[in-house]
Amino acid sequence: MTVTASLLFVNGLVLSMDASRHVWQSGFVAIEGDRIVAVGPMQSCEVVANRTLDLHGDLVMPGLVNCHGHFEEAIHRGFFDEASLAEWMNVGFWPCVRVMTQAMAYASARLAIAELLLSGVTSTAASECSVPNADAIDGALRAATESGIRAVVSRTVVDSPVSLPASQSVPIDLREGVASACEEVLRLRRRWNSGRVQVVPEPLNMLRCTPEMIQSLSALAVSEACDMHMHVASSRSEVEGSLSRYGRRPIEQLSHLKALGPHLLIAHCVWPSPAEIALLRDTGTRVSHNPVANLQYAEGIAPLSEMLEAGVVVGLGTDGSSTNNSQNLWETMKFSMFLQKHRLERAEYGSAEHALELATLGGAAAIGLGREVGSLEVGKKADIIVVDSKRTNLVPTETIVSNMVYAGNPAGVTTVLVGGDILVEGGRLVRWNLDDVVAEAQAAAAEVVERTNLAPVLRGKSRWLWDRQA
Ligand SMILES: [Zn+2]
Repeated sequence: MTVTASLLFVNGLVLSMDASRHVWQSGFVAIEGDRIVAVGPMQSCEVVANRTLDLHGDLVMPGLVNCHGHFEEAIHRGFFDEASLAEWMNVGFWPCVRVMTQAMAYASARLAIAELLLSGVTSTAASECSVPNADAIDGALRAATESGIRAVVSRTVVDSPVSLPASQSVPIDLREGVASACEEVLRLRRRWNSGRVQVVPEPLNMLRCTPEMIQSLSALAVSEACDMHMHVASSRSEVEGSLSRYGRRPIEQLSHLKALGPHLLIAHCVWPSPAEIALLRDTGTRVSHNPVANLQYAEGIAPLSEMLEAGVVVGLGTDGSSTNNSQNLWETMKFSMFLQKHRLERAEYGSAEHALELATLGGAAAIGLGREVGSLEVGKKADIIVVDSKRTNLVPTETIVSNMVYAGNPAGVTTVLVGGDILVEGGRLVRWNLDDVVAEAQAAAAEVVERTNLAPVLRGKSRWLWDRQA
């Protein structure tokens, strides 16, 4: 039966990521509006299309899903390298949050989103602070909306009045009341929720937030039928703090608060006990595995293999640019497998295919969009990327999946579609001028440095003799 389509890709190497993991050496993908209407081998292609693009053997696959990031950190990239978690939070992160304006958040989000789209990420999660500048997050949401990327943006809050170890600190002026936190999430959802963008609540973690805040935002997420995000079991100090304050480990404490469930996505999860992994599985709680960020602040290697073996839903995340420092999910895929080989002392562990499944199907399920994105199947959203199969790092093509993941380079992404809209074509952004994005982000970063007096800190980190005359 002939199908009509607005856009048709032909002669592509199609990685469908469907239930059987079909790969068609010479295949097609047809799109009508925002959805995929046909996909398969060329010999079965019966499509009448308004526009046809011949891929000449280039690879076509579902867009990548980044399960954890922070748009607001794009303009802090490199500021806090070689810092402990405590130093990063107190010298770096909180002072930068304090000076973030809506315009700076907009510029930072544009930089992060440009980097994500150009590397083939079509859906992303992003955690954004909103205290003391309540409307800063509106800048991030405006950028996400304009960009066309699919985004789940969580509004991050802290309210713990208890004194905590330095790595878990909560500055007094950045605390927010429960009523305000709930009202602001609802305000942002009314203003910004769309077919592509949605706002969800995020109590930052279980130490920095009171049980009342966690339970209230969890109830709000359930009543709004949306997700809640948190950073959980990210560090040893969080586990120790939880044990000494509540007599329970972090995930056990969330279970005690009845906050676990299929509405919850937890980022990091580096230090879950076997019993806590079982709790995640039994409650349908999802995990964003962020191996590069966990390494950056030396907080360990998460038990990815045990979580997957137990049946926990896991996707991959880059985390923000101040703890990764790239937004390169290809690199995260490679680390996700190589670190488990190292940790388990089993070179035969994992596969590039498994890493790619985590970055597509796994990520889609982890951010609650498993029915809509993550594979090239009829009825799913047309979130699609094309990768230039003639890049040096992808040869030989007999091992192209291994080469993409283990020798990957985001520069090979030539075309990116979200919901059928072409957002990257010929390796260039369609909606934004990249020169403007970079210049505005640079100006915003310079403003952060000036307003936080970070210049001496940044200069003090270099042992080299810099001549800063223009
Ligand atoms: Zn994070």
